[in-house]
Amino acid sequence: MVVVGAGPVGLTAALLLARRGLPVLVLERHRQPYAEPRAVHLDDEALRALSDAGVVEDFLRISRPALGLRLLDARSAVLAEFGRDPGAGLHGWPQASMFHQPDLEDLLRAAVEAQPLVRVERGAEVTGLEQHGHTVTVHLADRSVTTSAVLGCDGANSTVRRLIGSRMRDLGRPARWLVADLRAADPLPVWPGVHQVCDPRRAATFMPVAGDRYRVEGRLASGEGAADLPLAGLLASFGADRAELVRVAEYVYRAQVADRWRDGRVLLAGDAAHLTPPFIGQGLGLGLRDVHQAAWKLAAVVSGEADETLLDTHQAERAPHARALVRLAVLVGALMTGGGRSAAAVRRAVLAGIDRIPAVAAFATDSRTPPLHAGPLVERSGRAGRRLAGTLLPRATVVVAGRTCPVDEVLGAGTATLTRAPGGGLAVHAGGRRTRLEDVGGVLTTHLGVARSVVVRPDRIIRSAS
Ligand SMILES: Cc1cc2nc3c(=O)[nH]c(=O)nc-3n(C[C@H](O)[C@H](O)[C@H](O)COP(=O)(O)OP(=O)(O)OC[C@H]3O[C@@H](n4cnc5c(N)ncnc54)[C@H](O)[C@@H]3O)c2cc1C
Repeated sequence: MVVVGAGPVGLTAALLLARRGLPVLVLERHRQPYAEPRAVHLDDEALRALSDAGVVEDFLRISRPALGLRLLDARSAVLAEFGRDPGAGLHGWPQASMFHQPDLEDLLRAAVEAQPLVRVERGAEVTGLEQHGHTVTVHLADRSVTTSAVLGCDGANSTVRRLIGSRMRDLGRPARWLVADLRAADPLPVWPGVHQVCDPRRAATFMPVAGDRYRVEGRLASGEGAADLPLAGLLASFGADRAELVRVAEYVYRAQVADRWRDGRVLLAGDAAHLTPPFIGQGLGLGLRDVHQAAWKLAAVVSGEADETLLDTHQAERAPHARALVRLAVLVGALMTGGGRSAAAVRRAVLAGIDRIPAVAAFATDSRTPPLHAGPLVERSGRAGRRLAGTLLPRATVVVAGRTCPVDEVLGAGTATLTRAPGGGLAVHAGGRRTRLEDVGGVLTTHLGVARSVVVRPDRIIRSAS
């Protein structure tokens, strides 16, 4: 298998494919890793991909729980505050984590280097693709490689996307933001969550990242350049004026999803397939979900266990999910920072006291993303099926024969069935074995509700429930 691009999505894909026994060649055009910070937030659903890739413990060491969201007006008065309990997640990790993207990429590269089935070739720019039957020939500047399938994780300006005739479709208007990364020798006296300034004239965001790192971002108006953003004043308004400026970069945030995610045995994932504004921190999270859900399908097709039509489900499942989250990011951005002076007044009135309504607070901090749409691998029939199919099974802690472990260890690498055992408790049927387990804290029992049996796919998504 060839993975194009050694960004975080391509490296995670390589680890997931290798764990399924596939030799992987990662082709990366740059000779040196990209060292600049970008993503700072991942939710606990996306961590499931890092867990199956074998790197979640390392990720927890370089990240810290995200502690909530504070909405501020133009004068830094708090409009609403949504705290987040770091212990409340369904998967045994904080619902949201903050991290420095180069730290994540470092640990992914270390894991890839330790994985004998993965080889990364740098200075290898993919320029062409040809498909013949069950093979794909990948053209580089100086040679060609023939392989069984290609996963294009080659980022926003994806060559693979262009080569399969796919185009990005806009879901919103682009916006220019100035992004500044900061460090502080001593912890800054700031609220520990994300601060969002809901000022249509100068939307801005500030957040502690991890360790001694902080990030501030400000939206640029049309015609404005970096020098027009009053960075020092912005930092002072957050109590961050003591911080040292490490890097300032201008980004154009786009809201786009590709119209074609697959041609034969060539698939797209990550920023190659979608781009999102940052408001709900989902760009990388979407990419990790893409490869978590694609890896087992590709492994099954390449090994001959499954027909190539299995790959039809890649776009059918991932594109609507990506569109839903990109649209949500556009909507949340507009609600928090859109409109003019009158919109700001309405926002102030609506937000007054809203954080004290439990349902709103729960919604604002819930890390669950929409279920996958119904399809051949998501059977949303019956009462239990309609509620559960397409959602991620909680990574509950269970006890098996006196040993405590995450349920994923019992589910194994293939499809598994979880049933209520006669006389109470739960049982997992996987790989021809039945394992009885105790559900610590009742997380699974509560999640299953009335369902007596659920079928769980290799990517931990519930396929059907009855
Ligand atoms: C300021 C900012 C803040 C962000 N914040 C968040 C956040 O909080 N949470 C979040 O989830 N996401 C966030 N994102 C988005 C996140 O950073 C991206 O979604 C993520 O980096 C995409 O990873 P990727 O592996 O798909 O692509 P990339 O990291 O872009 O990697 C693509 C790789 O492919 C290589 N490549 C390209 N073309 C070729 C070719 N022809 N041949 C060989 N190699 C090629 C490139 O050199 C590159 O190494 C943010 C982005 C920005 C800019």
